[in-house]
Amino acid sequence: MGAFELMGGEYEQVVFNHDHASGLRAIIAIHSTALGPALGGTRFYPYSNEDDALRDVLRLARGMSYKAAAAGLDLGGGKAVIIGDPKRIKTEALLRAHGRFVESLGGRYITAEDVGTFTTDMDVVARETRWVTGRSESHGGGGDPSINTAYGVFCGLRAVAEALWNKHDLAGRHVAVQGVGKVGYQLCRLLHQAGVRITVSDVDLDHVGRAVNEFGVETTDPGKIHAVECDILAPCALGGVVNDDTLSELKCQAVAGSANNVLARPEHGFALRELGILYAPDYVINSGGLINVADELQGYSPDRARTRAEGIFGTLRAIFHRANEEGIPTSQAADKLAEQRIREISRVRLIRT
Ligand code: NAD
Repeated sequence: MGAFELMGGEYEQVVFNHDHASGLRAIIAIHSTALGPALGGTRFYPYSNEDDALRDVLRLARGMSYKAAAAGLDLGGGKAVIIGDPKRIKTEALLRAHGRFVESLGGRYITAEDVGTFTTDMDVVARETRWVTGRSESHGGGGDPSINTAYGVFCGLRAVAEALWNKHDLAGRHVAVQGVGKVGYQLCRLLHQAGVRITVSDVDLDHVGRAVNEFGVETTDPGKIHAVECDILAPCALGGVVNDDTLSELKCQAVAGSANNVLARPEHGFALRELGILYAPDYVINSGGLINVADELQGYSPDRARTRAEGIFGTLRAIFHRANEEGIPTSQAADKLAEQRIREISRVRLIRT
């Protein structure tokens, strides 16, 4: 399929960037700038071919439009991918070449870290472009966004508790956390402080050990975490956790965590509803990281970023309410909320000033 066909009339701009000398092969996709400049991280990944890279950047850029809209930010959706193994080909020259191409878009696209890139990489990119966020604290940035992501997820879990049990308090509840990396670990800290019983799994045994030592969590095998009998399953590792195979094995009342693309397919949102399992849409509950890097654009204030992440509680409450009212899955209610905001604010911006 050709690039225009893949863009399907839905994307504003796709740019292929090549700097032969440094080995940079990158694609930047801008899905929408209706609400503001398109913000989304740079994923550095060894895609097996260019088509896979293009499909991924398009899918991710679209997701960012929805995430920014639902988070109430004045930002559109975009994403960049760099093709290659970051462990082998990431150099200062390559990152700076990427920065120059980002700069060439004049602010229509703002980059940040993602899988395979880090705050320190964004400091390097920032030497060539103003249009970068998620830099380290020593470079005037907000540092690692995972802390705010975890805090946003925690606020989201309180909204889940309200919807399920009519109170925000999570004390005494049992949460199964899949993946205790950057976000999962921070989430365990917050859950532990809130008096929650926690079961974790991770393929990285050092990460499991850290959570056991610090928070006294229970553990289970990575292949079994989705089937733990618990109140909330919090996927904080991979996408596709809710799929044809796992659905019938879920023994939780809610699925709510930081992972992106939790539903293997959109139909699984309907399936969860049928099963009476409350789903906190991934791009809403995990938007604390985006909120953090977006805040940096205004001169980073940790307090403001944290307060904005608390807004996830109210957004999820509105989504759960709408899903109930309209008899639709929460995943669909979230999409409707995001699309409505994009529509309404785009219209307002037609007013001449
Ligand atoms: P991370 O790489 O630091 O942590 C992921 C953890 O999951 C690692 O400890 C890894 O060993 C573990 N893991 C991998 N496969 C597993 C499996 N099969 N079973 C159990 N554990 C497994 O990543 P992160 O930054 O903590 O992000 C976690 C998820 O949240 C990702 O899906 C990411 O896209 C999403 N997310 C992260 C942020 C952020 O701010 N970091 C923001 C939004 C969304």
